[in-house]
Amino acid sequence: MTKGRLIVFSAPSGCGKGTMLEEILKNDSFRTAVSATTRNPRQGEVNGVSYHFLSREDFNKKVEADEFLEHAVYCENNYGTLKSEVDPYLEKGIDVILEIEVQGAMKIRTIRPDALFVFIVPPSIKELRRRLNKRGTESEEVIEKRVAQAAGEIALAGNYDYIIVNDALEDAVSDFFAVIRAEKLKSEYSRELIDKILDEV
Ligand code: 5GP
Repeated sequence: MTKGRLIVFSAPSGCGKGTMLEEILKNDSFRTAVSATTRNPRQGEVNGVSYHFLSREDFNKKVEADEFLEHAVYCENNYGTLKSEVDPYLEKGIDVILEIEVQGAMKIRTIRPDALFVFIVPPSIKELRRRLNKRGTESEEVIEKRVAQAAGEIALAGNYDYIIVNDALEDAVSDFFAVIRAEKLKSEYSRELIDKILDEV
């Protein structure tokens, strides 16, 4: 059986990553890894579904037990991808999406060079600011901090294999599936098929 593909999916806050993932996950051949974090749950978040919410002590125990594929600090909280959320699914042929920030993504780049790296950008900073304002949950000051943080992350987008602009959701999702399709048609994934065809000669 062909193993699943590890897909690293990063986007600054306000780029519509969550909505895109909701659409992508309607397809059964993908799953997202549930990360562990030390941050507090937000309203509506469910332990074990949104995140595995851990105390700092429990998080550190897992670090010591080598249970993480990668972990990073983001806005003073720890976040980490558990190996148990990734490898068993890849073995079953399921593509696993890691929704992680750029530092974690770059760590994955070194330990899993075969992973696929996709970065989502807004069409412009003006549009990003408009989307963050529309949420209406944050002050002007917090929004400006998020815009600055987003700019810092976008500056690293060149380290990813593909960049998708999330202007119209439908187009962005369709671009994502186009990337996956093209990747699966790469010659390196067809070696067995080529051997089989040649065996017939
Ligand atoms: P939030 O607190 O808004 O859910 O997530 C904050 C940031 O942490 C987001 O950029 C999200 O992609 C990232 N993140 C979530 N899980 C992980 C993880 O397991 N590892 C890393 N490195 N980043 C993560």
